[in-house]
Amino acid sequence: MATESFGFQAEISQLLDLIINTFYSNKEIFLRELISNGSDALDKIRYASLTDPSDKENKLLTLRDTGVGMTKADLVNNLGTIAKSGTKGFMEALSSGADISMIGQFGVGFYSAYLVAERVQVISKHNDDEQYIWESAAGGTFTITPDTVNPPLGRGTEIRLYLKEDQTEYLEEKKIKEIVKKHSEFISYPIQLAVTKEIEKEVEDEEEEELKEEKEESKIEEVEDEEDKPKEKKTKKIKELETTNEELNKTKPIWTRNPQEITADEYGAFYKSLTNDWEEHLAVKHFSVEGQLEFKAILYIPKRAPFDLFETKKKRNNIKLYVRRVFIMDDCEDLIPEYLNFVKGIVDSEDLPLNISRETLQQNKILKVIRKNIVKKCMDLFTEIAEDKDNFNKFYESFGKNLKLGIHEDAQNRSKLAEFLRFFSTKALEEQTSLKDYITRMPEVQKSIYYLTGESLGAVRDSPFLEVLKKKGFEVLLLVDPIDEYAVTQLKEFEGKKLVCVSKEGLELEETEEEKKTREEEAAQFNDLCQTIKEALGDKVEKVVVSNRITDSPCVLVTGQFGWSSNMERIMKAQALRDSSMSSYMASKKTLELNPSNAIIKELKRKVAEDKADKSVRDLTFLLFETALLTSGFSLDDPTSFAKRINRMISLGLDVDEEEEESAPAESSSAPPPLEAVSTSAMEEID
Ligand code: ADP
Ligand code: MG
Repeated sequence: MATESFGFQAEISQLLDLIINTFYSNKEIFLRELISNGSDALDKIRYASLTDPSDKENKLLTLRDTGVGMTKADLVNNLGTIAKSGTKGFMEALSSGADISMIGQFGVGFYSAYLVAERVQVISKHNDDEQYIWESAAGGTFTITPDTVNPPLGRGTEIRLYLKEDQTEYLEEKKIKEIVKKHSEFISYPIQLAVTKEIEKEVEDEEEEELKEEKEESKIEEVEDEEDKPKEKKTKKIKELETTNEELNKTKPIWTRNPQEITADEYGAFYKSLTNDWEEHLAVKHFSVEGQLEFKAILYIPKRAPFDLFETKKKRNNIKLYVRRVFIMDDCEDLIPEYLNFVKGIVDSEDLPLNISRETLQQNKILKVIRKNIVKKCMDLFTEIAEDKDNFNKFYESFGKNLKLGIHEDAQNRSKLAEFLRFFSTKALEEQTSLKDYITRMPEVQKSIYYLTGESLGAVRDSPFLEVLKKKGFEVLLLVDPIDEYAVTQLKEFEGKKLVCVSKEGLELEETEEEKKTREEEAAQFNDLCQTIKEALGDKVEKVVVSNRITDSPCVLVTGQFGWSSNMERIMKAQALRDSSMSSYMASKKTLELNPSNAIIKELKRKVAEDKADKSVRDLTFLLFETALLTSGFSLDDPTSFAKRINRMISLGLDVDEEEEESAPAESSSAPPPLEAVSTSAMEEID
């Protein structure tokens, strides 16, 4: 069995070049990364320790863990051939100014070894395989060799860093201790440093010769007995080098300590060690629950979302579970709902059995209670963040989507979560408003909370749907995040006030009796026009009615109360819904609403009254309909014919004779019809 060579996956190779060639002074973080990997490997096997002895002569720093180890395939895959999304992500982050110390967050921390080492060996033994040596001096390739030379590891991994000429400071005991204290203090396994000391020993004289042979390094000194009392046995004092393992992280777990005695720096350091984040947290909650059930926990909110927050398959280290100080598992999904996947921390339970497995966890009643408590504490934590506006803005920018998901998923905490929502509105265009604040601004007659959804603030802020509401002084929330509509539809109401979409049918606007009467009269007067327009548009609309919500625009298109809004239709189309039956079922059934006080509508009404068969009514109807599609947030099915209609209008306006202009290719079938025909038959052809 010989050495096999492998090429690094292209991006990893690039990353290695970058690490080796970038000038960067804070190289010490490599140790944090490798210790963190050792700790992860131990997590996977739940026992033992980490050591890092050094060998000054060979400029060799060795890290050993008794963790899970790697099989040959693991070595090939994990250390070089399988692309990770973080590799590219990290390089991009670097080129836009990120710091190399952020490497751990991108899941490529191992390669930081090359900050200080010119050559790295990874010797590893996994229970399912033999012991192998992975080796690389970068340069695009690495090798794997069955290990027949080193002592067996039993199980675990030994990383040998052959340090660069100018990086030998990392062999010094003092330096190593300093870095471990700084970056790895809260690793929950003992980190031992093999320390070599010169010690004095008193030995019987006879042993002297043997010892001399045994320990070459020992310096032996004859010591005269101070007093000249005769002794049965002669003794001598010798000096010898002794290597002992010194534990570097003896502090007891931070969560077991009294919160009053823990400094902000300590919480920050613990957060960083837990998450690999390079920045400190935004907020923290350290608490214990006692009574029928006992546990301690520390929960953190990061300052910003990770680059892959919504990459669903990604396993992330969110909440670590401990049972009576013993680590049980990373990323205990059952401890926290999906939408809170940005909360980090640890939970240490007194009650769970030590041998609990992922499978049995799901059914565990104790865990369910812990989970409920954690969610509640998260809500408290958000409330605390909300006390500081700047902090809350940061928080909402990073995790607002999660809160909205929570509204969708977590019925129990829905109304609590709704307190944290912030939206733009017709009265809050600069800074988003809370629903609570919205309510304080409601005029007395207003009963519901109104909202309009759309693609962007620009697309909705002047929408025709807002016309009457603006006049009445009713504020309208402008929801422009795609997830908003899902959230608000689930929420349904806030503090007893219904949430009402202003672009849907059946909008009640707290009309006075008089206003109602006027509208009923108008409806009767416009009945003929409505019918004529409906006949012209056919299936394109469900109904044509007189509107109570527009005061300026000629018409709008509203959708059914329980169907999709135009915004939802847009989102669904963008998501390329595979199931087209669903989309035809849910797709917005549109009602065209006419504004009886608009001059165009009035003129149309007059024309219809004069001559029901007036062809220009039909053509203008199509233009009005298509324009309403746009202003109401829909897209055009056939933008080309719309454009043709508009172009003809422009020609009319400019008094240009299109036929003359395009006289050369007169036969061309795509040539528009003569102008006289524009308002009549030509338009029918196009439709
Ligand atoms: P990450 O730790 O974020 O996964 P790294 O680049 O630090 O990224 O490590 C890559 C992978 O290599 C790890 O996920 C793990 O599978 C493997 N690995 C690294 N070091 C060890 C170790 N000491 N023991 C076992 N596996 C290891
Ligand atoms: Mg790592």
